[in-house]
Amino acid sequence: MTTTTTDISTLRINGQRLWDSLMELAKIGETPKGGVCRLTLTDLDKQGRDLVTKWAREAGLTVTIDKIGNGFMRRPGRNNALPPIVTGSHIDTQPTGGKFDGNYGVLAGLEVMRTLNDQGIETEAPMEVSFWTNEEGSRFVPVMMGSGVFSKTFTLEHAYAAKDIDGKTVGEELARIGYIGEQEPGDHPIGAFFETHIEQGPVLEDNDVTIGVVQGVLGIRWFDCTVTGMEAHAGPTPMALRKDAMQVAAQIMQEVVATAMRHQPHGRGTVGMVQVFPNSRNVIPGRVKFSIDLRNSTDALVDQMADEVKAFAASISTKTGLDVKIELVSSYPAQAFHEDCKGAVAKAATKLGYSNMPVVSGAGHDAVYMSQLAPTGMIFIPCKDGISHNEIESATPEHISAGCNVLLHAMLERAGVV
Ligand SMILES: [Zn+2]
Repeated sequence: MTTTTTDISTLRINGQRLWDSLMELAKIGETPKGGVCRLTLTDLDKQGRDLVTKWAREAGLTVTIDKIGNGFMRRPGRNNALPPIVTGSHIDTQPTGGKFDGNYGVLAGLEVMRTLNDQGIETEAPMEVSFWTNEEGSRFVPVMMGSGVFSKTFTLEHAYAAKDIDGKTVGEELARIGYIGEQEPGDHPIGAFFETHIEQGPVLEDNDVTIGVVQGVLGIRWFDCTVTGMEAHAGPTPMALRKDAMQVAAQIMQEVVATAMRHQPHGRGTVGMVQVFPNSRNVIPGRVKFSIDLRNSTDALVDQMADEVKAFAASISTKTGLDVKIELVSSYPAQAFHEDCKGAVAKAATKLGYSNMPVVSGAGHDAVYMSQLAPTGMIFIPCKDGISHNEIESATPEHISAGCNVLLHAMLERAGVV
């Protein structure tokens, strides 16, 4: 390849081509309301993977699939002994998913490669676009499965054994769609990783800002709380003599939200699931079980929030005499992204003239597992009304292009231009 004299600072991606690719991929599994249903390892997922890898090959990229079905689409650099600068996301969706969640991150990477091809630009390090298997976790648990196996957070055997509601396993379904590759997951060096994604929240739109420079992903703790009282007739039992599990549970639920409010700006507290026993109109509830979801920007903060909720629960248990149990169900560590990658994203956004601000991600992403392996950063763009995991999920062509331009320049900074 001959070295060109292209002025890199004026380089821009082809926004129309990226948009058209997004719309084309969204036809596979399209829903009547304009969304996409392309659950992982289904026939539709296979069609999506086939289309994306076909586009990659047409762009001259080499496609490698690993044993959990993660795909890597590589554009060589001048020095191929260097670890590649990688970008990627996922192309599986929720059952009532949108066109952009995940798909944008993969196709933005492909558009970066196509742009470099158009301009004949050679990079020092190779560059790759990845798609990670089963990010959504809707059909098979755990979520972020492909990147989790890649980072050795869980084993390939554990992932293969995961079953959907029909009893089909990940191993069987991967084999059926023809996406069990040769490569051992994780046996694939990464120099740096970037993921471009719609924000899936309202902060950028609310601030009228184009680019979110993601500082990290919130740590998450999931608990089950069970309050045990005693069932009794709603009529004959005087108020003072009741052991009403619902009334105690309601106070703890309020405290979950109050705790999050005391831990702003990043504290989050949610009670999303409640079971009332016996759940009968004229029976004082004897038992209430509910979920607690706590999040914050550091593990220390989220653990402090959990301690505060537990202390409140203990005190109300003592006061009322009702038993309260709080059990940890899952824990996901907070993940701060790498200074150099955050810097590359902020610098690219500013250089390109896009308004930008630091943001945190309240949702998990494949980038969380990648950041355990290599310097990692994320680029957010606004989505309409902050809505995602919904068929009405939407983003503007301008924002789609802006995020991809930032990705292009951040990746070039890390890869180096010959
Ligand atoms: Zn996603």
